[in-house]
Amino acid sequence: MKHKKIISGIVAASLLAASPWTPALAESLKWNYVNTYEEQDGSLFNSENYDFMKFSEIGVKLTEIEKQSNRVKVEVKGQSSTGQPLYVVTIASPDSQGKFGKIQALRKQMFNNPDKAQDWIANNPDFKVPVMINGSIHGTEFVGSDAIIQLIERFSFDNDETTKEILENNILIFNVVQNPDGRINATRFNGEGIDLNRDFITQSQPETQETVALIKEWNPMVFLDTHGYVKNYAPNKQGLIEPCTVPHNPNYEYDLYEKWAMDQAEAMETEIMSNKGSFTGSLYQSMEGTYIPQRDDAEGWDDYPPIFTPMYAMYHGAYGHTLETPTNDMDGVRWMYDAIMGALKNATDNKQEMIKDQIEMFRRGINFDHPFHDEGFFPSAYVLPLDPKDPTVTHKAVNHLQKNDIEVVQASKDFTAGGQSYPKGTYIVKMDQAKAGLANTMLWDGEDITEEVDAMYDISAWSLPELWGFEAIAVLSDFEVTATKVNQVQSQGSVSGKGPFLIPNSSVKAVNLVNTLLLQGVNVKRDKKGNFYTEAAANTISATVKQSGLHIESAKVPAEAVEVASMKVAILKDGGMNKVQSHSGTKLALKRLGFAVTEVSPAEVAEQGLSSFDVFVYSGTESLIARTQSRAGNKEFGFQNPAQFDGFKANVDEFLNSGGKYIAVGAGASNATKTLCLTDNTVVVGDYNSNGIAKVDYQGEGVTAGYISDDFGFVYRPVWYENTGNDEVSATFDDNSDFFVAGHWKNNVAAQGKAVIVKEQDKDVTLIGLEAGFRDHTDYLFRLLSNSIFEK
Ligand SMILES: [Zn+2]
Repeated sequence: MKHKKIISGIVAASLLAASPWTPALAESLKWNYVNTYEEQDGSLFNSENYDFMKFSEIGVKLTEIEKQSNRVKVEVKGQSSTGQPLYVVTIASPDSQGKFGKIQALRKQMFNNPDKAQDWIANNPDFKVPVMINGSIHGTEFVGSDAIIQLIERFSFDNDETTKEILENNILIFNVVQNPDGRINATRFNGEGIDLNRDFITQSQPETQETVALIKEWNPMVFLDTHGYVKNYAPNKQGLIEPCTVPHNPNYEYDLYEKWAMDQAEAMETEIMSNKGSFTGSLYQSMEGTYIPQRDDAEGWDDYPPIFTPMYAMYHGAYGHTLETPTNDMDGVRWMYDAIMGALKNATDNKQEMIKDQIEMFRRGINFDHPFHDEGFFPSAYVLPLDPKDPTVTHKAVNHLQKNDIEVVQASKDFTAGGQSYPKGTYIVKMDQAKAGLANTMLWDGEDITEEVDAMYDISAWSLPELWGFEAIAVLSDFEVTATKVNQVQSQGSVSGKGPFLIPNSSVKAVNLVNTLLLQGVNVKRDKKGNFYTEAAANTISATVKQSGLHIESAKVPAEAVEVASMKVAILKDGGMNKVQSHSGTKLALKRLGFAVTEVSPAEVAEQGLSSFDVFVYSGTESLIARTQSRAGNKEFGFQNPAQFDGFKANVDEFLNSGGKYIAVGAGASNATKTLCLTDNTVVVGDYNSNGIAKVDYQGEGVTAGYISDDFGFVYRPVWYENTGNDEVSATFDDNSDFFVAGHWKNNVAAQGKAVIVKEQDKDVTLIGLEAGFRDHTDYLFRLLSNSIFEK
C-alpha cells in the first residue's frame, strides 16, 4: 500500500472500526479511513497465497526473454542497498531499437524548446511515448513485479493487434523489481530499513536514486506504481487507482494532470471489468468497479507530499498513478496486469493530446507563465548563499537539485537581488525553467494545511532549506546577474594557519570530520557552544579535512573546552514492527555523523546488556518494549517472553549507573522512557498523523549548541514534556500561537511554549521530542544527536 502508518493500541482499533465500508456511508462521499491493515494477524503475507516469482529467478527469466526477442533490452541499473541488481527492461518495436538516444533527445526538446517540440509532435504522428512501470517498491507487495513479468513476456513475443498497436505508439520501460531487498526478505522496506516510497524528496537510498535517474532519462508520459492490497474501500469496488483526493500539492500544474488522470484511471477500471470473467475469487466475481479516491471519496488519500514515486514523477510531467491491487494471489496479478493494459490502451488512444499537455507543463515553467497559480506564487528565483567556512550543506543541495533535472547557476560577479547584495560564487535557481514546480516543492517553506483536511496520511512539510539547513532566499522581483551553469560540485576542504584549529559545529560533515579524526587518534576538544578544537599539526589532519569539504582555520582553544572521545553507540533495533523499521532514520543519521553504530534488539539488550557501549539511543515505537506483542507479525521483533522486559529494564539501569548515556528520540521513545521510569516528566503525545515544521527556541548550549531561538524543528507524532521540575530544559516550542509553520497538526496550541528537549537532573537521560533523524531527511537536526552524545 502507498499509505501505511505505525498505529498501535487504541488508535489502531478506532481506525479499524471506521474502515470497512458500512451502509451508512454508502449514500454520500464521506471521510473514510482508507489507511488500515489489510493483512490480518498471523497472515504470512509473503507466501501464503500463491507462488510468486522469487527474485533469484527474475534475472534468469529476463535473460532468456532478451535472447529470444528482438524488442527487448535488459539492463542492470545500479544496485540495491545490499548489492542486489536493479533490472530495467525497455521494450520497443524492432524499428525503434538503437534509436533510444534519439527518442530521448526529442523528449528533452520538450523542455529546451517546447514550441518546437509541439510542432514536431504535430508533424510526426508516429512518434512514440515512454510509459514507465515501477514494480513492487514495497517488497511484500509481490504481485506488481509478477504482473510486470507477464507484460514483458506479452510485449516481447505476442503479435496480436493490441500488442502491436501499443508498441507502435509507446516505449515501455519496466523498473522490474524496484526493491529487491524487500522482495527477498519479504519486507516492505529495503535493506537499510527505509520505505522507498517515502524517499523521493530525500533520495537517500540507491534504489530511489536509480529510479530518479531513470525518470529523468525518459521523462515518461505515464508513470504507474504497482502496490497492494486494497479491497472493499467502497462496496464491491476492488483495488485502488489514483488520482487522489485533496489536498493536492500546490506546486503542480494540476489542471494539466487532472485533464487526463481520471480518464486514464477509468480506462484501467474498464479494462479490469471487461475481463471480470477471468478472475476466480468470489471477491472479484462480485466486483462492480475499482475505488478511485478522487471520484469515490472526499478526502483520505492525498497526493500532497512528493515522497511517493508517482507524485514525484508528476513533477517530470508524467501522469502518475498508484495502483493498489486487491489481493496477494493470481487474481491480484491479473487485476494489476489488466489495469496496466488499460492505461497503455488509453495512452495509445490519446497520446497526441496527452503529450501536448505534458509539453505545456514544461512550457509554463520555461516561460514563467503559470495560469493555474496566483501571481507571485512562484518566486522569480531562489538565491543560495554559501557559508564560506562550511559550504557542504549548500553543495549537497546544489548537487541534489541538479540530479533532479533542476538547473542551477553560479554568479560569476557580485550581484544584487531583492535589495540584498551577494558575492560572486553564490548559487541561484532561476524559476523560469521546465521543472520549476519540482524546484519550488524542494525549496519552498511549505504551508500550514491543518485546516484543509481532517488528517494527512504522511508528511505534510519537507522544506529542504529548513530541514537540511542551508539558506535559500526566495526573490520575488526580477534581477540581473552574470552567471554560469554549474555541474556537480565537489566540496574540497582546506586547512589554513598554524593551529590550533577550530572545527565549527555547523553541519553533518563537520561532525563527521570530528568523528573521523577521533578514530584516527587525533585529540579533539569541545566547548559549550559545541565547536571543536584540535591542536594537531596541519599536515596530520589536512587529508581528512580536504575530504570533509570544510575550510578550517586557526583559533584559540577556550579554557572551558573539554576533550571528547570516540563514542560507541548502540541503537535499539526495530526489526519491522507493523512492517516499519522505526529506528532506521536515526540509525542512518548517526552513521552519517560518523559514529560507530550497532543495532541491538530488545531481546539482546534484555539478555546481554549494554556494557560494551557508551551511548544507548532509543528512537522508535514504544511497542518495542511491550511485555507481549498482540500482533503475530510483530512477535519476532519484541521480547521473546514477558520477563525479558524486566531484564531489559535492569540492564538499562545498570548501564546508566555505570556511566552510560541514554538518549530518547521522538514520541514512541519518550513513552518508553516513561515506562522504564527514566523520566519523571509528564510525556504528552499528539496524534500519529500530525507532523510538520515548527519554530523552536533552542538554548544554544550543550545539547542544543549550534541552534538559536526562533529556529526550526520537525515533528512527526509530536511529543512535549510538562512538569519538568529541576530538569534542564534545552529547547521549547516557540511561545507564540503561530509557532507551527508548515504541515498538519490539529490542536498544536497545546504544545505552544512547551519543553521539547529535556535532560534529566539526576540521570544521564536526554529526551529529544523533535525528529532529529527522521528518515535520513532532517540533516539540520542531526547535530542534536551528536551534541547529546558528546555532552558530558
Ligand atoms: Zn505499497
